Amino acid sequence: MAEVKNYKVTSEMVTCKKCGYVINGALGDNGEGPKKGDFSVCGKCATIGRYNEDFSVTPMSEGALEIMSEADPEGYEAIQKIVGIIKKLAMKFKI
Ligand SMILES: [Zn+2]
Repeated sequence: MAEVKNYKVTSEMVTCKKCGYVINGALGDNGEGPKKGDFSVCGKCATIGRYNEDFSVTPMSEGALEIMSEADPEGYEAIQKIVGIIKKLAMKFKI
């Protein structure tokens, strides 16, 4: 199994505002976990959100996603791949 180097377990919980799923960890690209403005994808319902200063996550609106898809097509595509993986896993394991 590949080692995940940038996984941060925090004492703070993040609750998905759409489905209520609670997590206490996150992947970051700097070894310190996510920072304000980083993207989040709920591990249960695959809602895309962005981290706030206090580690909470605000779901992105359809309009914001549309703007992102035009401004950063590669980033948008990468996030959509993650969304697809989570949805497949959710269907497979019925979560
Ligand atoms: Zn969710």
